[in-house]
Amino acid sequence: MSNLDSDVIIVGGGLAGLACAVGLAEQEIKAVVLESRPRLGGRATSINDPTTGEEIDNCQHVAMGCCVNFLDFCQRVGIDDCFVRESSLTFVDKAGNHSRISANPFLPAPLNLAGAFGRAKFLTAKDKIVLARGLMSLYHANPRDYQNFAEFLDRHHQTPGTIRGYWEPVLVSALSESMERIDFRAGRKVFVDGFLSHVDAWPIWLAKKPLGWIYGERIVGWLKAKGVDVRMSSGVEQVDVVDNHVKQVRLRSGDLISAKQIVVAVPWFNIHRVLSEEVLSTIVPNVHQFEAAPISSVHLWYDQPITPLRHAVLLERVSQWLFNRTAILEEKSPGRFAYQVVISQSRELLSRPQSEIAGLVDRELREAFRVDDSTTLLHSRVITEHKAVFSPLTSTERFRPTQKTSIKGLYLAGDWTQTGWPATMEGAVISGYRAAEELLSAQGRRESIVQPEFKTRWWTRAMLAAGRVLGR
Ligand SMILES: Cc1cc2nc3c(=O)[nH]c(=O)nc-3n(C[C@H](O)[C@H](O)[C@H](O)COP(=O)(O)OP(=O)(O)OC[C@H]3O[C@@H](n4cnc5c(N)ncnc54)[C@H](O)[C@@H]3O)c2cc1C
Repeated sequence: MSNLDSDVIIVGGGLAGLACAVGLAEQEIKAVVLESRPRLGGRATSINDPTTGEEIDNCQHVAMGCCVNFLDFCQRVGIDDCFVRESSLTFVDKAGNHSRISANPFLPAPLNLAGAFGRAKFLTAKDKIVLARGLMSLYHANPRDYQNFAEFLDRHHQTPGTIRGYWEPVLVSALSESMERIDFRAGRKVFVDGFLSHVDAWPIWLAKKPLGWIYGERIVGWLKAKGVDVRMSSGVEQVDVVDNHVKQVRLRSGDLISAKQIVVAVPWFNIHRVLSEEVLSTIVPNVHQFEAAPISSVHLWYDQPITPLRHAVLLERVSQWLFNRTAILEEKSPGRFAYQVVISQSRELLSRPQSEIAGLVDRELREAFRVDDSTTLLHSRVITEHKAVFSPLTSTERFRPTQKTSIKGLYLAGDWTQTGWPATMEGAVISGYRAAEELLSAQGRRESIVQPEFKTRWWTRAMLAAGRVLGR
């Protein structure tokens, strides 16, 4: 057992804790990062698949262009070369028709995507008009008028075709909840920030290396070079608070580390393990009311390629989004062809055996891409993260705590704290940057680490204002 001193301790080496460490390291503050697992990255991670020997991600993580803080974080630590920007999406409907959605580079938002949706085969002519009107109504909607997103869709007469073809696939994959449970503001933000406000907001970014390597080795190297003390397999048992001031952390090993400032960057479902009931009731009294949503990812290896597409949005199926891992990871001469299917809000699958889920997804892929029996499924693996994200319920939004707490020297970070974003890598990075700003501010230093959102250009604002007429 040993007793140490540090200026700043960060508990948790997920993206929130890492972003905080990076923000502080750039201001010459060398924190100690304590992570309970033997690796960093938290919920954005990889595991080894013993059958193939490959590092596979717990789930494909998708960022969008509007995730400016996440992209800024990647640039700061020099991992931006590990991500690729995808400039088109392919929607595959129930009949197997492919519709490619890409932006017209000469048109401003929101018109840049109008042509592609206008040509889409998964929407009827009526659906397209209803959808355009729905988007304009959404932009001008008063958030106080709606309890949840389903109510908005209903009151604005969105057709089953628009719900199945657009609203649901976008929202369920972004927020991992059903329309009835999604807070209206949270849902509106996805469409306004992601599709309507800026031409660079909608393209998606995908990792072309395993997440465990990017957020592990690559970031550890950067942090260590900056003098940050990163300790894995160092679970924190308790953060001690005395007379409303943080005092020290007790590790599970029995070691004690004292510090004047401590950032607790663990998820909402773990926080009661490191903070006492008394502290929790002061700073996050409603934390037990957060609800979690599961996400499942189905990994499949075939002996031949099943589609040349890098990724596809699958409509009206249990499978929601396909990622061609062999293509995205740029494997030159693979012996097998790896795909990953993501199923967000996968509660209905929880009671089903893995083999049944993999069989269902295999059948759906064969149907969507017209794959015959000469192609063999070599191996499959289903990974379900039961507490993948917090559910963006209206009640939850009110309970999200700020990064600065009423206890001196104690800060919170994590995707579940107040960021204005749902549970995402962007939200996690914002929370870490904000915690770093607050901590610096307590030291009398005013630094701006959080990046500003995309600025909507005047012509886009003018078009959206004119769209009010269409939305009526
Ligand atoms: C299956 C799945 C799919 C997802 N898909 C996407 C996506 O496509 N796009 C997107 O933007 N986001 C996605 N997310 C969400 C994203 O992964 C999270 O929002 C983000 O990683 C959360 O980061 P965090 O640092 O807040 O929390 P976490 O990643 O949970 O990190 C917290 C860390 O604290 C550590 N810890 C806990 N207790 C202790 C303790 N006592 N002592 C020390 N350390 C401790 C944990 O081990 C963990 O490493 C997905 C998440 C999952 C699970």
